[in-house]
Amino acid sequence: MAEIQTVRGPVDTADLGATLMHEHVFILTPDVHANYPEEWGDEDTRVADAVQRLQKAYDAGVRTIVDPTVVGLGRYIPRIQRIMEQVPINLVVATGVYTYNDAPRFFSYRGPALNEVLGSELPDPMVDMFVSDIRDGIAGTGVRAGMLKCAIDHQGMTPGVERVMRAVAKAHLATGVPITVHTHPGEQSGLEVKRVMCDEEGVDPGRIVLGHSGDTTDCDHISALADAGFVLGMDRFGINLDTTFEARADTLLEMLRRGYGERMVLSQDASCYIDWVDPNVMAFLSQWHYTHLFEDVFPYVLEHGATQEQIDTMLVDVPRRFLEGA
Ligand SMILES: [Zn+2]
Repeated sequence: MAEIQTVRGPVDTADLGATLMHEHVFILTPDVHANYPEEWGDEDTRVADAVQRLQKAYDAGVRTIVDPTVVGLGRYIPRIQRIMEQVPINLVVATGVYTYNDAPRFFSYRGPALNEVLGSELPDPMVDMFVSDIRDGIAGTGVRAGMLKCAIDHQGMTPGVERVMRAVAKAHLATGVPITVHTHPGEQSGLEVKRVMCDEEGVDPGRIVLGHSGDTTDCDHISALADAGFVLGMDRFGINLDTTFEARADTLLEMLRRGYGERMVLSQDASCYIDWVDPNVMAFLSQWHYTHLFEDVFPYVLEHGATQEQIDTMLVDVPRRFLEGA
């Protein structure tokens, strides 16, 4: 049996159980957070709150969570370790860079950014950083990344987005660790992922989750991506700002009806705390939490024609096979 890396060490993939493929623990803007920490408040209280929320997910049946919090989203593994010492969930952490526009400033005058000036083809230091997170562990914690992450949004394939995407593809090819991509299905950005990561860099689409595929109701588009071999992340249940509960759930039902149960994974993209959102706005997102699938979505889809077997496939079997690389 294959093993995957979690915060507490390697876990046999046979033991992963119900797996949420895209949830965060914290999403922070580190330099704002460090200088204006008032809203965050007491560290111990935040840790205790996270423990309680994750324990609630465990009690609902969740056994594994993939947390694609990378550079650009405030990844800080020592705090995550402290939390995971207190919750029995397996937490898989990620490496990569999250941007819709430019690469972080840190990379402005490194590697390929200097190609034109130096008239050479320099390797991207991002690749070594990602590979080191996967092989040696993150920042001396000993915690090894089990997932690669990048993003493309409505801005499309900007030079920064493309640079990160190619670095993630190269780190994947060097390590075999799978990839999750934040996509914007309304702009059909999955096709851009296919062009750069698969057609040009040579990544097997079966090793990539196209995250946020459930943000659209265009089932023809996401069916075509599934037919191309990608795994679809129906992974934002509970974020009902531009869409509705029914639109997300009905899209899932339609995709099941079309026979794509083996190509979808489920999640909520929730977190214990995200500093991007005014706490007063969070009040309007009452379903955006770790157990919304169990409390609201599963009862709804079961009532509307889905089977428990289909839910188990998307929640247990597809994540396990994907993480195993099978
Ligand atoms: Zn996310």
